[in-house]
Amino acid sequence: MELNNRQELIISIVKENGPITGEKIAEKLSLTRATLRPDLAILTMSGFLDARPRVGYFYTGKTGGQFFNERMIKLTVEEFQSTPVVVNESASVYDAICTMFLEDVGTLFVVNKKEHLVGILSRKDLLRASMGKQDLESVPISIIMTRMPNVTTCKPTDSMLEVANKLINKQIDGLPVVKEMEVDGLIIQEVIGRVTKTNISKAFIYLANNDAHA
Ligand code: ADP
Repeated sequence: MELNNRQELIISIVKENGPITGEKIAEKLSLTRATLRPDLAILTMSGFLDARPRVGYFYTGKTGGQFFNERMIKLTVEEFQSTPVVVNESASVYDAICTMFLEDVGTLFVVNKKEHLVGILSRKDLLRASMGKQDLESVPISIIMTRMPNVTTCKPTDSMLEVANKLINKQIDGLPVVKEMEVDGLIIQEVIGRVTKTNISKAFIYLANNDAHA
């Protein structure tokens, strides 16, 4: 959030003199209380200042950086996720390479015939499989994929910050967004979205382009 010059001035006055009434702040700036009202409203709504009835305004000590963090936590996967691209576990390495090019994605989610998540395939998994002398049309992806339960997933209501942490900690490019269900006593995951480093970048730009109470 970008503060204008007058808002910055108000903050420094409150920092030095707080608690201070709106009337006194206006006096110090040679402005009317009414002129200041919108600025004071913005500064309290965004958390820079706090207001107590009959006491006045005081500085909360929060910095812009803390707000950024708080707002990042509030951005959820469902707001930024993309459409998932899935392939069946019986597909060949050759088919998976074609799908990756046609769909223009870097990660494919592998499902069984009931459409439950069983694994994940990255570009390097497919490159590695292509380095040997095997016939790519006869090698099934199920033998080269990273399989469940080793696939890191996320839920639509998870925070984008949580996703960013998982991507960095596990050194991976993307996560399937899943809906967990119990079928015949087994927990299965249905793929409902895809969240990648691109979506994290979009969330980052969104925060930079919107002010604190957007
Ligand atoms: P690339 O290998 O193309 O750089 P990644 O860094 O995403 O892409 O993948 C690295 C390895 O991690 C691959 O073997 C891939 O199968 C595996 N992988 C990718 N995404 C996940 C995930 N969400 N959970 C578990 N393993 C993953």
